[in-house]
Amino acid sequence: MSELLLIEQRLGTGDAAPWVLEGGRRLPGRDDNRRLAELRRGLMRHAGVRPLAAEVAAEELERTLQAVHEPGYLRTLRGVRSEEPIVIPELAPPGLPIDIPVRAGLVAAAHEAVRTGIAAARRVVAGARFAYALCRPPGHHAGPGWLAGYCYLNTAAAAVLTLREHGAQPVGIVDLDLHYPNGTAAIVAPLQDVRLHSLHAYPVTNVPERTVRPRDGRERVVEFAASPSVAEYLDAVADSIASLARECEALVVSLGYDTVAGDPHGDWRLPPSVFAGVGRLLAASRLPVCAIQEGGYALHRLADCADAFAGGLLGDGGMQARVRAAADRHPVVCGPSDRAPAGRPTERTRMEAAPV
Ligand SMILES: [Zn+2]
Repeated sequence: MSELLLIEQRLGTGDAAPWVLEGGRRLPGRDDNRRLAELRRGLMRHAGVRPLAAEVAAEELERTLQAVHEPGYLRTLRGVRSEEPIVIPELAPPGLPIDIPVRAGLVAAAHEAVRTGIAAARRVVAGARFAYALCRPPGHHAGPGWLAGYCYLNTAAAAVLTLREHGAQPVGIVDLDLHYPNGTAAIVAPLQDVRLHSLHAYPVTNVPERTVRPRDGRERVVEFAASPSVAEYLDAVADSIASLARECEALVVSLGYDTVAGDPHGDWRLPPSVFAGVGRLLAASRLPVCAIQEGGYALHRLADCADAFAGGLLGDGGMQARVRAAADRHPVVCGPSDRAPAGRPTERTRMEAAPV
């Protein structure tokens, strides 16, 4: 029977996100440890999920962080001693305003998230087929020298570097969060043996031009102008996974659940059961998979999302039955009849992109 290794983050205190700026409005922070508890609850419904502590030596964590982020950026973050949220404007992404504050507990949690991602990647290089880094805060908006969108340190990039270091080349990243991974894209841009595919909502709010111009053929963006149907979404996921599977030896999945109906930071309407389809596609790819938790803030849906993902990945019969029941409860069903033209994706690579 398949097994999914669940790598659990060491939890701290004083590390809830205080607020986030979205569309010019300051919203209450939605990223805190309750997310991890809910996700764990869903994952642990499966007998094939085995929880493990995130064990990575301090030296390896530091070495990886130095490879992912600029030294000055790390110094500035670590210089934050305040438990009160403070704003550091010079850590904003290029061309964008700062949208989150920093506090000491959050910096510590971000370090633990990266430790968790590295631990998951190490399990994959040691032979595990599936590992899942259950971590927060998310990381994919954190760039070489900037923070944004709840993200301080880039856990997915750390996992990629760990996989490469141990001989998995090329590595593919498929980012399934609602939002474009501007941080991950910037970090992996110089790495010739890394492919990045992102499926996300358009227009993109976390790049200044509000649209993404992929750097070259190693990056693919699939943009949905409106909430896609389950069938449209899974078709695009299948295309990406098939393409990456042809080229890559391992896959990092930046796994965001903010694409589901009811997410406070999103307006898509996918049901949690869509992640069973994602899991099945990953399982069928035969690639080793290192999943990194990114967004997803609808607390009441997170357990079902993670449950569905693990069920699809593991192909356990009990889960399949639950997915069918969940699909029946939702108006959006998987099939050709629910294709909505408004949700059709557009895909860009450098060759296809409009001139800058
Ligand atoms: Zn997101």
